[in-house]
Amino acid sequence: MESASRDELREVQNSRLRAAVQNAYENVDFYRETFDEHGLTPDDIESVEDLSKLPFTTKENFRDNYPTGMFAVEMDDVVRIHASSGTTGKPKIVGYTRDDLDVWSKAVARCLVAAGIGADDVVQNAYGYGLFTGGLGLHQGVEELGATVIPIGGGNTQRQVEMLDDLGSDVISCTPSYALYLAEVADDMGIDVRDLPLRTVIFGAEPCTEPMRNEIEERLGVTGIDIYGLSEIVGPGVSIECEEQDGLHIWEDYFYPEVIDPNTGDPVAEGEEGELVLTTLAKDALPVLRYRTGDLTTLNYDTCECGRTCVRMDNITGRSDDLIIVRGVNFYPSEVESVVLEFDEVAPHYRIDLRREGNLDQLEITVELVEDFDGSSTDLETRIGKRLSNVLSFTPDELNLVEYGDIARTEVGKVQRVYDHRGQ
Ligand SMILES: [Zn+2]
Repeated sequence: MESASRDELREVQNSRLRAAVQNAYENVDFYRETFDEHGLTPDDIESVEDLSKLPFTTKENFRDNYPTGMFAVEMDDVVRIHASSGTTGKPKIVGYTRDDLDVWSKAVARCLVAAGIGADDVVQNAYGYGLFTGGLGLHQGVEELGATVIPIGGGNTQRQVEMLDDLGSDVISCTPSYALYLAEVADDMGIDVRDLPLRTVIFGAEPCTEPMRNEIEERLGVTGIDIYGLSEIVGPGVSIECEEQDGLHIWEDYFYPEVIDPNTGDPVAEGEEGELVLTTLAKDALPVLRYRTGDLTTLNYDTCECGRTCVRMDNITGRSDDLIIVRGVNFYPSEVESVVLEFDEVAPHYRIDLRREGNLDQLEITVELVEDFDGSSTDLETRIGKRLSNVLSFTPDELNLVEYGDIARTEVGKVQRVYDHRGQ
């Protein structure tokens, strides 16, 4: 399916979509009511072109139907539960039948192959295990492929380094910020990760800009491959970069993508940026139709150099939820990241603090100097400030340069870089 012709793929998508719609309508009250409200029946959705007749599914729909109201099967048929970390309120609970787990494993195994990983490789899985889909999701994909998985989970960084060394892991899966932290800890232990067999880092769960990827590749002597997914759709494995590192292939026979204007909900022209919307085509326990992911991307339908015909999406560097608005200026944390990492004197660690003084928003950016910094920090501050004003059209109220190691590292879970104190 990865290199099927577009026509062949479309046929599979349409027949799977009809089954998914039928399943959702017959077995999920939320979908039946939604169809009824819009005067639709499953017969109105014959092909993916008909999907635009349907309204979107949103995070709020998951919240309103907490815990298992979005499930299409009885709990008897659910063999696994996961949950997405809700930053506010209840988490989103997701469930899988045995067949769903099989689809998920295959999707992740395909990802690994696309990333150049084979059955003779050793994969150290440093994603968190537990309710978070990252750990077990990656794990079962490695087993499906027949490679060796080391289920070390998040944290225990010294032990991670020892395992990399002792077992000669070829691949590690973790967040981008953790990959850098791992290199720092290894340095402290007198080990240069570049001397180890490690050759690939599969990173996900956090946005990662190109400069950050370059930093990881250089520091660890690896190829950095971006994987994408979300619990509501399946978990990691919706898409991944192939070795060309030129966009993430979406497994379109399992997940149907659309890109919409987040304000109007209308589809954008091919190649234009918008919000990614996904429909599951092969999941029984939790069929999801037109889910608004909140992630901004573009789609590229050209056949990739690797030979795969599956559409490619751009790296996600902005979630519509992450947009920062300060005194009427909008920007994404990733834009700040791209700018500060242009400076060789700056380590790849930063934080953004937002405060309100009186009625005025205050923006404070803190960046870390490299370990062996010996220049003038006043001069560097001026240059970074200028670059931020030029590129992002704002000048931070405060720009702090702190010493190497002063910004807290994240060992488990996703790194936090933006601290919004304005509501407090
Ligand atoms: Zn490719």
